[in-house]
Amino acid sequence: MPLLDPIELTRALVSFDTINPPGDEEASARYLAKILAAAGFEVNLQRFGERRFNLVAKVAGVQGAAPLGFTGHLDTVPLGTASWTHHPHAGEVADGRLYGRGSSDMKAGIAAFLVACLPMLDALRASTGLHVILTGGEETGCDGAHALTRADPALLEPLGALIVGEPTSNRAVIGHKGALWLRGIARGVTAHGAMPHEGVNAIYKVAEALRKIQHFEVGASHAAMGAPTLNVGTVQGGLNINSVPDRAEFSIDMRTVPGIQHTCVTDRLRGHLGNIELEPVIDLPPVYSDPEDSWIARVTDLARARGASSSAPRTVQFFTDAAVLGPATGRPPTIILGPGEPEMAHKTDEYCRVDRLLEAVDLYRDVLADWIAR
Ligand SMILES: [Zn+2]
Repeated sequence: MPLLDPIELTRALVSFDTINPPGDEEASARYLAKILAAAGFEVNLQRFGERRFNLVAKVAGVQGAAPLGFTGHLDTVPLGTASWTHHPHAGEVADGRLYGRGSSDMKAGIAAFLVACLPMLDALRASTGLHVILTGGEETGCDGAHALTRADPALLEPLGALIVGEPTSNRAVIGHKGALWLRGIARGVTAHGAMPHEGVNAIYKVAEALRKIQHFEVGASHAAMGAPTLNVGTVQGGLNINSVPDRAEFSIDMRTVPGIQHTCVTDRLRGHLGNIELEPVIDLPPVYSDPEDSWIARVTDLARARGASSSAPRTVQFFTDAAVLGPATGRPPTIILGPGEPEMAHKTDEYCRVDRLLEAVDLYRDVLADWIAR
């Protein structure tokens, strides 16, 4: 098959509208399935909704060796309300930048990895093999990855290591905080606004809960990630001005660090707030790999040798599919490493730097060669 060009492959992926919501990964997943199947991968498309798809592609290695894994998501966030200077699905290249929604986050990462790995498949076959897990629905809370673990757990096998191609400007990142989002609901009894003593005001219950939540300790800090955080993002309640509201709710966004169990912190918060119901919205554990792990240390060195500006392994704020796929693949050492610019993710006129895209192909090749030579 013809060698793929990373710029053209990124442009092709950007041309698919995979904006989520509503989410539509079908055309891009089928396009990549063809490329991967032609290259010799065993390809599985997993449907998890109307036009919603995950793609798991495998090259088997020698018996008994845990394969290397790569993951990336096919969906993107919406365009936002501001108008774009560069068409979001044209993949225009100008001034060393490749523009488009999903260019940095994270179609360039997927393109760079596929271009890097395809010429190395024979060597990978003679080694551990390679599993490429491309998900849909990541941006709305790892929906595709969750669907994969629930509906088709056999597709996910224990991995020897996992690369997540999210945007890091080609720097090695060893973890991110977890996300625990909850909806708090207070219930009351409605009555006429002129006779409030006949009702129970749910908004007052929420007000009381919000006062308490400001003094809630989420848990202990982590040496590399710092302190966990809590924010109340929304409050809603009441239908009209002259009724006692019988329902009010608020949303809680906690970002957790290793050592904090989400079930424990939820139970503790429930006790702290009293008669507030707590419903889960998103529950993604933190991801953290030991910087002393030999593979993590080598990949960090390889990234540094390619010119990554940061010398020490870092952690990032955004969450990734590794929160779901890591536990489902035996918790392998996990590195987040991709050519996109993290600060361009989700922005108007999102772009990926072309030099970083090309550098990522070389860097992924370095990582694959190191893996094969172990
Ligand atoms: Zn992303």
